[in-house]
This record gives sequence, structure tokens and C-alpha cells, in this order.
Amino acid sequence: MKNYYQKDIETAPREKIIEIQNEKIVKQVKHVYDNVPYYRNLMDQKGVKPEDIKTIDDIKKLPFLTKDDLREAYPYGLLGTDLKNCVRIQSTSGTTGKRVVAFYTQHDIDLWEECCARAIVAAGGTNEDVVQVCYGYGLFTGGPGLNGGSHKVGCLTLPMSSGNTERQIQFMMDLNATILCCTPSYAAYIGESLAERGYKPEDNKLKAGIFGAEPWTEEMRRSIEKSLGIKAYDIYGLTETSGPGVSFECEEQTGMHINEDHFYAEIIDPETGEVLPEGEKGELVFTSLDKEGFPLLRYRTKDICVLSRKKCSCGRTHVKMSKPMGRSDDMMIIRGVNVFPSQIEAVLLKEGYTPNYQIVVDRARNNDTFDVYVELSPEQFSDKVSDIQARERNLEAAMRSMLGIGPKMHLVAPKTIERSEGKAVRVIDKRKLHD
Ligand code: ADP
Ligand code: ZN
Repeated sequence: MKNYYQKDIETAPREKIIEIQNEKIVKQVKHVYDNVPYYRNLMDQKGVKPEDIKTIDDIKKLPFLTKDDLREAYPYGLLGTDLKNCVRIQSTSGTTGKRVVAFYTQHDIDLWEECCARAIVAAGGTNEDVVQVCYGYGLFTGGPGLNGGSHKVGCLTLPMSSGNTERQIQFMMDLNATILCCTPSYAAYIGESLAERGYKPEDNKLKAGIFGAEPWTEEMRRSIEKSLGIKAYDIYGLTETSGPGVSFECEEQTGMHINEDHFYAEIIDPETGEVLPEGEKGELVFTSLDKEGFPLLRYRTKDICVLSRKKCSCGRTHVKMSKPMGRSDDMMIIRGVNVFPSQIEAVLLKEGYTPNYQIVVDRARNNDTFDVYVELSPEQFSDKVSDIQARERNLEAAMRSMLGIGPKMHLVAPKTIERSEGKAVRVIDKRKLHD
């Protein structure tokens, strides 16, 4: 039997969704114009008035917002309502060094938690489940978002937060957790830690995992599914739009349904800002249709992906986004070649290596250096230098054929690359090309 958290809206016919979007965008633009002077200025500069927005298609007329705008308007410049109506602040983990502070009214929190509840139900969650949330709690949106969603579904919620893997494992086993929520890199680490303690995948009661907040590949998914004996679902979101749950995967595992009744998605050409037709790859732009506290219109996420309206076997009708193929600001340009960490991860897992790796880019004598460190598993580890060197050369060739550029590969001993309890640090760029 198929389960939905809000069946009517999750499976609504396309016309119904458009009708909802038409209605909400008109109200939302007026709300923002009246309450957010920063955005009103942008609209005035572009010569757009709220009356010009009559349907969701008119959204193209509105100006974009970028992370720079958020920085400039920090902290209250994009606030959409009186501060006394807000009940919560969340903030980015600062992966990109620029903090964003987002404000939520109770309405915004409910809407966000409902989106997370949809994700949990899509992963098979019911009120019989025990949900272990080991995303960080606090300013980071991961913990609070999934925690709230789990409550809404009526699951028994274990608010573990991240870290203390020993305790995570103890609670998981003693309290029979059935759904695990954390970053994919931490899920991989938990899988590895369980195996080290002699547990087999079938020894735990987990059936599903909801993993997101950072990029991960299909190969990484299969490896986590195997090590934990579960089905692994992707979940996406960003602090600027609420947090996780903006989109989520269903059992088809072919992209994440965007909660289109709350978030309108566009794909644009990152160079020209032009809206691209469905199926083309570009930068994802979100408009929150009914948030009150932090109602961003046409926010450029920098995430590169593709949208698809292909009919989904799960019955949900909301548009699907592909896994982000990288952030436009994650993309490394090494000796003139565009390289995404996800491509490197895909090659490593395909060649049978662990997802424990780090990419180091530097510049020596005006030339980029490109090194990738990868941990060997205990079974792969060998004392024979010639073995290791041969493996490194093979990997270099595989990388070159994928990337068009060959990094220097370093296979290192098990447990030498630091594990992450939240978002993994995959790239160390020492070139200081940016601020
Ligand atoms: P930041 O990482 O910028 O400090 P956030 O915690 O809000 O702030 O992170 C949002 C970003 O995390 C997204 O823009 C996206 O790049 C990344 N992200 C979130 N979920 C996923 C996912 N499922 N797959 C890939 N990337 C993701
Ligand atoms: Zn689906």
C-alpha cells in the first residue's frame, strides 16, 4: 500500500498545483513588496510592480536574490514580518564561510516540519517507527527539521544530534531504531563502526535512512544500503528556504519530489539568468510561496541540477529534481578543467574504494597541483609498496578518463582520514583564488 503524509496535495493533478501556485504567488509578492524594503528596491529598480505578477508564470519578471544579497541584508534586511511574530532562528553551518540567518514564524515551522513529515512517510515511516535523528541539533537545520517531521508523523523520536558514535550505536541497537537520519558521510561512518564491532547488516532493525545536507553519489548510496541493510533516501534543502525537506525521494529513488505547493523551482543558466526548459541542466532557483518570516523570492541556490516532470510510480505529482551535481561554487577549476568532487567520488566507489577521501588543490610555480587521498579498507591494505603504486596508477588512469585531467592519487592506511559527524570536508583548496 502506498503511503503519503498529505495525500491530496502530494498527488494533486498538475492543474490543481498550478492553481495553488497562482494564488499563493500573487499574495506572496504583495507581502514581500509591502514588508521587505530591500526586495522592494530590487523590484523598483527592475520596474516590476506587484500588480504585474498575476500568475506563477509571471515570476520570470522578478529580480533574483543571491547569497551576496543575504550577506548585505544581514541580519534583518530580508525579514518579512515583525520580529515579534517570529519564534525561531536557524543558521547555515557556514560551509561556504558566509553565515545566513533565517527567521521562522510558527506557521513557517509547521510548514517546514510537514515537508519533513512527507519525506519520512515517503521513506516508509509510520507511527510504529523509531526515528534516530543524528543530524546536528541547534542552529543547523538538519536536526530540528527531521525532529519536527518525525513528531508530526507520530514516530518515536530519538533526538541524538551528531557525534558520539558509541552512544549512537548503543541507542540504535537497544532501542531498535528503524529509520536513521543523518548526513550520508556519517551514515557511512556508522556502517563502518557497526562492522568493526562485529555487527552484520541484519543485526540492526533499521529499514530506511534519510540522508542529505551534502552531495553524495549513487555509488555511495549502494554502499551505505549494503553496510546498514537498509533503503537509503535522499533529502534536500537549505537554510534559506527552511531547511531539509524542500524536496525528498520516494521509493523510486530517481530524484527528489519538490514540495511545489510551498516552493516554486526554476532552472536557470547561471551565466545569463535565462530560465531553461525542463530537462536542461542549470542552477536551481527557489521561491518560497507562503513563508512569512523569511520569504525569499527567486533565490539562487548555486546548486546545479535538472528538473523532471516524468510520471513517477509512487503516485506523487510534484516535479522531481536530480541530485545536485555540485554547487556552482563547489566546482573546482583545475588547470582550466571543471571538476566536481562528486565525479571523483563516483570513480572511487566504482573502482571498489572507500568513500573516505580528501581532495587537495594547491598552486606551485603557477601550476595547479591536484592530489586525492583515499583510504584503503583493511582488506585492501598491503605492506607491499609495489602493490600500492600499481593501484595508484590504475586509479589515476580511471580518474583521467572521467575528468579529463589526472590527479595524483595517494592510497593511505585505514583510519587516517578524519571522519565527519556532520558535513564531510572533501576539498581543501589552498590556492586562495577567492576571498
Ligand atoms: P551551508 O552548507 O551553505 O552552510 P546549508 O546547511 O543550508 O548551508 O546547506 C545547504 C546546501 O547543502 C545546499 O545548497 C546544497 O548545496 C547542499 N545540500 C543539501 N542537501 C543536499 C543533498 N541531498 N544533496 C546534495 N547537496 C545537498
Ligand atoms: Zn515518486
